[in-house]
Amino acid sequence: MKRLLAITFLLGTCFTFLQAQKTYLHCGQLITAENEKVQKEKTIVIEGKKIMDIQNGYTDPSEADATVIDLKEQLVMPGLHDMHVHIEHQSSPKRYEEGFRLNEADVALKATTYCRKTLMAGFTSVRDLGGSGVNVSLGNAIAKGHIVGPRILTAEKAIATTGGHADPTNGLRKDLVGDPGPKEGVINSPEEARKAVRQRYKNGADCIKITATGGVLSVAKDGQGPQFSDAELEAIVEAANEYGYVTAAHAHGVEGMKRAVKAGITTIEHGTKMNEEIMDLMIKKGTYLVPTISAGKYVEKKAKIKGFFPEVVVPKALEMGPLIQETFGKAYKRGVKICFGTDAGVFPHGENAYEFVYMTEVGMPAIEAIISATRVPTEVMGTTDKLGTITAGKLADIIAVPDNTLEDMTQMGNVLFVMKDGVVYKSEMN
Ligand SMILES: [Zn+2]
Repeated sequence: MKRLLAITFLLGTCFTFLQAQKTYLHCGQLITAENEKVQKEKTIVIEGKKIMDIQNGYTDPSEADATVIDLKEQLVMPGLHDMHVHIEHQSSPKRYEEGFRLNEADVALKATTYCRKTLMAGFTSVRDLGGSGVNVSLGNAIAKGHIVGPRILTAEKAIATTGGHADPTNGLRKDLVGDPGPKEGVINSPEEARKAVRQRYKNGADCIKITATGGVLSVAKDGQGPQFSDAELEAIVEAANEYGYVTAAHAHGVEGMKRAVKAGITTIEHGTKMNEEIMDLMIKKGTYLVPTISAGKYVEKKAKIKGFFPEVVVPKALEMGPLIQETFGKAYKRGVKICFGTDAGVFPHGENAYEFVYMTEVGMPAIEAIISATRVPTEVMGTTDKLGTITAGKLADIIAVPDNTLEDMTQMGNVLFVMKDGVVYKSEMN
């Protein structure tokens, strides 16, 4: 009887295996992102969630039930990663009052739209660098197939110091301020720093985000001064490393940025006032820059509209916004490792791909910009075994854009085909 059951189980497994439908993608141009080559006339064979094979020419399936998708007029590449988004929200003049009006369910339901837009824009994976914690639930809901969106790796709530960028009570009436602590992501000592990291672990975070300097959009005067002591930063990195967490530091000003790099932070976000000394330190330590040029451009533009941001935000936006693109160009040319990230949520979700235009405008070759959004993020996050390149055995996260995209990077915003986990979510080729 036992043997019979075992055979039935085995047959069942084989049957399921045989049943997994195959999809053949006929690709006119293909960037696998394993290298910087653009290959011509290739067929990607997908079975279930995975890429099975990459074949020369356009091969037709031998299986009767296989699907063939014609991407002969397109440029095919791995699903894009945006390593800096805030999926829970989106900037608007009403953004600052939302904290008083929206319940968690409201935030979550509204964010389902942002998740969908992000995926349809070709971003099959994102790293959420700070929200209320709803981002963890959104990631779980997507992974379970309840809602449509990109894979989400999340920092849950960013860690700040009292009054710092990401202290959730900045700018509130005195009786509403209270005294947020490590549980809320606010720390004031190495001990509290460790507790805040452990709390993020408990809450289901996938990585750790800190606000190493002041920030543009917080209701606080300073947008660039250091906000953590060396000892606090070391404690954060040490505690994060114990959980295998990658660490990200928001940083505009020099001193806080330098301290974060020295402490061993994995990625510097924005890097607005980065000087050559810090660039060299980052090269030495292998620290990545996540540029977020799009956010700089957006806040600069909106700060000129009266009433869009609170008054205290306006001078910071006008000062920092215009600097990011130029700093990125210098850092790239000096040899700092670049990992694609936009700060989507500061600007409308789904417009993430414009970052490619900004990156190439200041000297990064198009193909390198694409690799910074495909293979590089998986090297940062430790997911190269599953994602980041079109390689047999990896998950089938694949997108397609028009065939002239490498000559006109605005076409990265014109994603025609999106597959995630072997499932087609968008197919708009003519
Ligand atoms: Zn951000």
